[in-house]
Amino acid sequence: MSYLLEPLAVSMEGDLTELLQKFSLAGNELSGAILNLEDLNSGIKECEGSLIGRIMGEKVANFTGVKNFVAAAWSYPKNLTVMELGPNLFQFNIPSLKEKERIVEGGPWVIDNQVLVIRRWSEGIEGNYGDFTIAPLWVQLWDLPVHWLTKEVGRKIGAVFKGVKEVIVPQSGGKEGRHLKILALVDLSVPLLRGTVVQTAGKLKWVVFKYERCPDFCYNCGVVGHSERSCKEQRVMMARLSENQYGPWMRAGNTKSPSKERPLKPELSKDKRYWRF
Ligand SMILES: [Zn+2]
Repeated sequence: MSYLLEPLAVSMEGDLTELLQKFSLAGNELSGAILNLEDLNSGIKECEGSLIGRIMGEKVANFTGVKNFVAAAWSYPKNLTVMELGPNLFQFNIPSLKEKERIVEGGPWVIDNQVLVIRRWSEGIEGNYGDFTIAPLWVQLWDLPVHWLTKEVGRKIGAVFKGVKEVIVPQSGGKEGRHLKILALVDLSVPLLRGTVVQTAGKLKWVVFKYERCPDFCYNCGVVGHSERSCKEQRVMMARLSENQYGPWMRAGNTKSPSKERPLKPELSKDKRYWRF
């Protein structure tokens, strides 16, 4: 049995490799400081217990706007401080543990049609985009048979999301109509679900999802955080449909049909079966 020796004691970060290809470094440019854990202790202590927030979108939010938004949305937590770490990236300090938990477990926080995703601080989290791709959003479930309007059914259908935090059965007699409302943990790294096929007693049923206070998303690929103009996906088109696969009809309160060929409400008056005397 042979043992291989580690060729390098330190590993280089990707950005450093890139830099070395661009510049030839010399002297103290190359041999800089060595930071030990003790050197970082006080910084870690300061960050511990803080929250990191990332706004998932292309529009760069301004600092004062974010500060005012969170203060109001979080019901004015005592001694809240906000620091901008980069474009759409913020650190929040809230001394009260109780208030902090309420914020990190709460949401959705939507500012100017973009989701603010909040996470507890951990080392390096601010640089990791993937840590901010799960966000709570209110999703309405439409086209349900009336006997499906229960919390249990909401939880079961909502299992297609990353989690269901709450189910609301709108009170009967309300003017909003027949639907369920779930607070779902939505994966923002994949296209928003337009609905889901549910199987019951051997039959298949399409349940429509509509997103409340829906953040801006791409009508081409369905992903939150960029627009059609900056979409990297090839235009997704079906043979029969020349329209987008995703659209404003996924927003709650928008009754426009997904395509002209498929009206949402069939015109019952044209159905002659109901015209017998
Ligand atoms: Zn896209």
